[in-house]
Amino acid sequence: MDYVNHKKAPGLPGNDRDGRACPGGSGRGRNELQQKATLPKTRALTIVSLLLAGLTFSGGLSLCEEKISSPRLLLEPSRLHPGQFLVVFLEGVDPDDEASFQTNLPQTTLKAYPYRQGLISLIGVDCRTPPGEYTISVRVRQKDLGLWQQKLKFVLEPKTFTTQHLEVSPKKLEVRSREKWQQDLSFILEARSKSCDLPLWEGGFLAPLKGRKTADFGLIRYINGKEAGRHSGVDIAAPNGTLVVAANSGIVCLARFLNVTGYTAIVDHGLNLFTSYCHLENLLVNEGQEVLKGQEIGQVGSTGFATGSHLHWGAIIGSIFVDPYLLVEKDPLDIFDRETG
Ligand SMILES: [Zn+2]
Repeated sequence: MDYVNHKKAPGLPGNDRDGRACPGGSGRGRNELQQKATLPKTRALTIVSLLLAGLTFSGGLSLCEEKISSPRLLLEPSRLHPGQFLVVFLEGVDPDDEASFQTNLPQTTLKAYPYRQGLISLIGVDCRTPPGEYTISVRVRQKDLGLWQQKLKFVLEPKTFTTQHLEVSPKKLEVRSREKWQQDLSFILEARSKSCDLPLWEGGFLAPLKGRKTADFGLIRYINGKEAGRHSGVDIAAPNGTLVVAANSGIVCLARFLNVTGYTAIVDHGLNLFTSYCHLENLLVNEGQEVLKGQEIGQVGSTGFATGSHLHWGAIIGSIFVDPYLLVEKDPLDIFDRETG
């Protein structure tokens, strides 16, 4: 079985990338805590998920060759739906330890970041993932102490997503042609290729716009009778020109006009968590700019492939879209801050 260590492994995708430069001296509570931690700010850890289910540790759920200062693995939640996300925290490892992670979630590339004397990873679950039991496995080789390994299970419960049928003109359909998507993707993937290795957000997230939700996350969309994939965010209708705010603090990693999503902003909140704001009438921020929670980033519009004035709001972990409303009023790291004091 192949394990990917958090120490640099040449040739592995993403493992030689540095994180995005984080803003300094922000004075935010969590960042201060992070700076006090004994771990240095090191490069992000890339974890490669194996696509093969059924690879297990021979020693069962937990095997400790040495129990001195054993790490602790926390996973939350243990039951969830497709389109939600997990937080995994490996507490009690230091930079000299070699740590490796695995999951049998399909097509998932994970990253972990140093956080509070451990490693943390946010893991998005694609809304098309089949329900069932999945695992996160971690193995740590500690200097002078030996091998420690653990596997935690979580259950993906079934969820029925609704469908939506749209009828649009051929001219409108041309806006989302394959070629136009490809052009947009090059900018989007570049913007999300790096993330700050500190959590930049502060507490629970805000809904970026007050308005009527007109399309749920994950719904199965048909355009002119043809299935056109899953809805990657939430649509919120509001009059043209209504101000849209950043759901939380972070760095604007994309602010430009794109063919399909029109005027678009993407904010990097750190730890591979991003939010996106699409079909805006205009942008009030620039790429590279630091934004604070609640700061205006644009106005509602209907630019790109849109059938009316609305905001498409997305939340992305790495490359996996999750329901952005899971973040509203909730801080994904709350439980671990409580658990680890
Ligand atoms: Zn949408």
